[in-house]
Amino acid sequence: MSYISTVKLQEIYHAELEKLRVVHNYRTFIILSIILFASCALFLAQHILLPDTYSEPWIGQVYLYFYGISLAASLFFIVGLQIFRLARINWAVSATSLAFSLYCVTLGLALTVLDYHTYQNLTATYISTIGVTVMLSAPIWAYIVIVIYLLGAFILVYTQYLASISNPSIFISIFFLAIISAVFGIYTEGVRTKGELARLQMKDLMLRDPLTGAYNRLFINEYIAHSLQAKKRYHTDLSCLLLDVDFFKKINDRYGHQTGDLVLSELVATISRIVRSADIIARMGGEEFLIILPQTTLPSAIVVANKILTGINTVKLAGKEITVSIGIAEFTENEEFVSLYHRIDEALYKAKTNGRNRAEVSMARQVV
Ligand code: GH3
Ligand code: MG
Ligand code: MG
Repeated sequence: MSYISTVKLQEIYHAELEKLRVVHNYRTFIILSIILFASCALFLAQHILLPDTYSEPWIGQVYLYFYGISLAASLFFIVGLQIFRLARINWAVSATSLAFSLYCVTLGLALTVLDYHTYQNLTATYISTIGVTVMLSAPIWAYIVIVIYLLGAFILVYTQYLASISNPSIFISIFFLAIISAVFGIYTEGVRTKGELARLQMKDLMLRDPLTGAYNRLFINEYIAHSLQAKKRYHTDLSCLLLDVDFFKKINDRYGHQTGDLVLSELVATISRIVRSADIIARMGGEEFLIILPQTTLPSAIVVANKILTGINTVKLAGKEITVSIGIAEFTENEEFVSLYHRIDEALYKAKTNGRNRAEVSMARQVV
């Protein structure tokens, strides 16, 4: 195993974050540029074929300029982002993304000033639709349902109330609101999911031993607490095995610590193939492992312990022949973990003193 210094690790994280940022900017702004391009093309076509009416004619002219300039600009951003990404010029991808953002802000401001001269105000629809799609966490189809509903409802409202007082461009506005909302909603959901996944992975990292991948004590404490609650309520069976590698010190001394480490990780992999997927393997420290067997009685736990003994006897771990000793115990009614651990540790000790490579059972003390 190679060890990396903390400073080096920080550099790696930093570089990794930079790369992620470039990929994020590229993906985001290529989508936005395409949306801007398509919306400008439609608005231009509409302004030429089916012109809106304005209180003053120069307003229509200025709209035309805006859409013409934005069409060219968005094309420039699409091509620029694509070229810089393919050529792997990361700073240029970021700079283009920033330039696009500034352009959008400028365009938004300019259009707002112009909109003040007309009577088409869709602010409430924009805020509510983009708001809900960004806030809602749902599968993709839900965002599509929302925007289809928006389009359908708008057509109804338009024919009932707006046809006489509205410009034709209001349709294009609504159409792009639908697209933008769907894109924002799905995108935000993607970011949310990624964050959630990272959180789960972090939690998993926190609860596992990095060498073997087995669970650690932190997890066991939580898991046992839950299992004991369930046992009390539903009177289920719960057994444990405590397993310790025999003469592990000799393995380290003879073959080195690295081989010892490999033995431990191959041991966990071997045990996990033998036990059921619902069973829990945890490293309690050094070369000692606790195996929790839910819904398992003492006789079944004995069977599992013998399967593990045989399994380990028939394979080589890190190319070495290894044996283990096992203590077996079943939780009695209302028994706490401390008590069971004490008993199972005694059973393991008995297995060691009785010659190792064997399992011993801890019989619960009978209360008469
Ligand atoms: P016994 O059969 O009585 O269990 O003998 P043993 O040698 O296995 O027991 P002992 O407790 O004397 O030695 C355990 C050894 O495990 C000592 C320690 O250096 C080693 N060890 C603990 N954690 C690790 C680890 O993460 N990697 C490696 N390679 N060795 C470890
Ligand atoms: Mg040992
Ligand atoms: Mg030990």
